[in-house]
Amino acid sequence: MIQEAIREQPVPATGGTELFHVIDPRVFERRLLDELCDLTTQVRTVAKSYAGARLLQELLLNRRAMFHFTQPSTRTFLSFNNACHVLGIRTSEIRDPSTSSEVKGESFEDSIRTFSSYVDLIIMRTHSPGRAAQAARLMDTIPRPVPVINAGSGSDQHPTQALLDIYTLDRSFSERGGIDGKIIGMMGDLKRGRTVRSLCYLMKNYADVHLVFIAPEQFAMQNDVKHHLEEHGIPFRETEQLGKVLPELDALYVTRMQSEWDKADECPAVDFRRFSVGTKELRMLKPEAIIMHPLPRGPELDPAVDMDPRAMYWRQERNGMWMRVAVLLKIFRMESRIQDLDLESFAAQHGDKPLVS
Ligand code: ASP
Repeated sequence: MIQEAIREQPVPATGGTELFHVIDPRVFERRLLDELCDLTTQVRTVAKSYAGARLLQELLLNRRAMFHFTQPSTRTFLSFNNACHVLGIRTSEIRDPSTSSEVKGESFEDSIRTFSSYVDLIIMRTHSPGRAAQAARLMDTIPRPVPVINAGSGSDQHPTQALLDIYTLDRSFSERGGIDGKIIGMMGDLKRGRTVRSLCYLMKNYADVHLVFIAPEQFAMQNDVKHHLEEHGIPFRETEQLGKVLPELDALYVTRMQSEWDKADECPAVDFRRFSVGTKELRMLKPEAIIMHPLPRGPELDPAVDMDPRAMYWRQERNGMWMRVAVLLKIFRMESRIQDLDLESFAAQHGDKPLVS
């Protein structure tokens, strides 16, 4: 069980729609979320032409980012890395702590301060919760602070995943009134799944959203998140019976069992087959509902689902890179360079050489 004390603490909102550190999803407000979603779509549109790709490439050529990833990552690492490259940001990385001076006994603070001497942004994934917040607090005390992005902190939070999840929901429901009023199911290991924990924190920004937690009792959503939902008046239900709730869901967010956090073989003790989606479950889901998954998947998501038009997870994965481009633009205050473009005339002018995007 994660102790409250070492969880990410909310970093005070910068006010308005500015972004610096990205640590805790609770500071994100609707205006900023809407702006990020629009910016993500604008960036994708611009990136469709060579001229647009070149324009993006030159926006942050003078910036460098560093990845400090001491916990495994495929999607978050690659999507952030490629998001940096889309904007011309050069990147360096430490993915194996045994190759850094931390093994010589250098303190966490000195290591982070050292990283910040060489780069303009630190993107961190850590095994323990609270580390990115600690790094951000340190940055706020030094003369040349650089922004810190939490790219996954233990089993606690994953704020940029939540942003790309919001973008995916927002896009999927764009013809049906957006996220407001939707019934969203979250299934799997909700206790230790940082993606669903972070996504719950963003739900306060949407009106009349109902959450349905579908999990075995042992892996139910934790009380800190439930208290947050109660405080913000977001209704939620808990069940172990997927079949009973499936027909009413607008979105089903499936997650895998987080067995890497097992202390005493908790996962093998539970029958997870009831918390999985295959062709049988597809028949019970509304025709216009969507299925999401942060990936990687395990047996909870049958590959046969991939062919169904409601399967949104591969698009969700790709959305991640573009949302992270938008986050980088906001952090470095370059968003107006895209927002102020007349996209229609830009596309008309340069659309003759489309790129796949
Ligand atoms: N990739 C996501 C994460 O880093 C989901 C998962 O691993 O289950 O949390």
